[in-house]
Amino acid sequence: MTDDLEKWVFPIAGEPLRFHVRSRSNPAHKHLVDLGCYEHKKRPGIFNGQCACEDFAFHLKKLLDAGAFPNDKTRCWHIKQAVKFLAEYTVSKLHQMTTAPAKPAPAGRVVNPDSKHGRLRYVRN
Ligand SMILES: [Zn+2]
Repeated sequence: MTDDLEKWVFPIAGEPLRFHVRSRSNPAHKHLVDLGCYEHKKRPGIFNGQCACEDFAFHLKKLLDAGAFPNDKTRCWHIKQAVKFLAEYTVSKLHQMTTAPAKPAPAGRVVNPDSKHGRLRYVRN
């Protein structure tokens, strides 16, 4: 996670798609961002996200209500930061999962190195 993102984006425990994102004009204030909102009506599974800031309320919400496809022009700075935070977190977790050392085979079960397809075989002790 980049240091900069951690200063601006704060995940909410137990709510993986919701974040508090610090306001740039008033850093003491945080906007609530929900990335699971504004699913595109014609493309289920594509979400824009929603923010409690003025930019979203007065400009971006109108575009989405008119059917705009979620993109950088329909997302405020806060939503973009939350998306970036979630992307970096996901990459980090997936990297850990794919590079973690292989777990040892359970007792009584070993990989047969001579097998053409690397199949498991059970070994009697
Ligand atoms: Zn916002």
